[in-house]
Amino acid sequence: MHSKNRASPAKDKPGYVTKINKELCKRCGICVQFCPQGVFTQDEEGYPVVKEQEKCTGCLSCFYYCPDFAVEVKKHEEGKDKKDGGGEK
Ligand code: SF4
Ligand code: SF4
Repeated sequence: MHSKNRASPAKDKPGYVTKINKELCKRCGICVQFCPQGVFTQDEEGYPVVKEQEKCTGCLSCFYYCPDFAVEVKKHEEGKDKKDGGGEK
């Protein structure tokens, strides 16, 4: 069998893209606890890790609750991925 562990109706295309800025994150775990969808898990250092991106509903709880503005949630725009060529400054 070459299918992934889970059958999904369409492609694994997230509606939202959640990002943690580790340089700002102080590992308080608030975002992990407040995400109603359980999108985050924590790594062994305590940093939040986006684990279930496809479950994100874009509610922005993580964004608003994070005391350090370390979370970014963006709508995933189809076909627009090309524009960031990795050049974040
Ligand atoms: S936007 Fe809402 S659902 Fe998405 S990761 Fe943040 S808290 Fe979770
Ligand atoms: S709420 Fe912000 S500072 Fe706290 S763990 Fe999440 S990203 Fe890091």
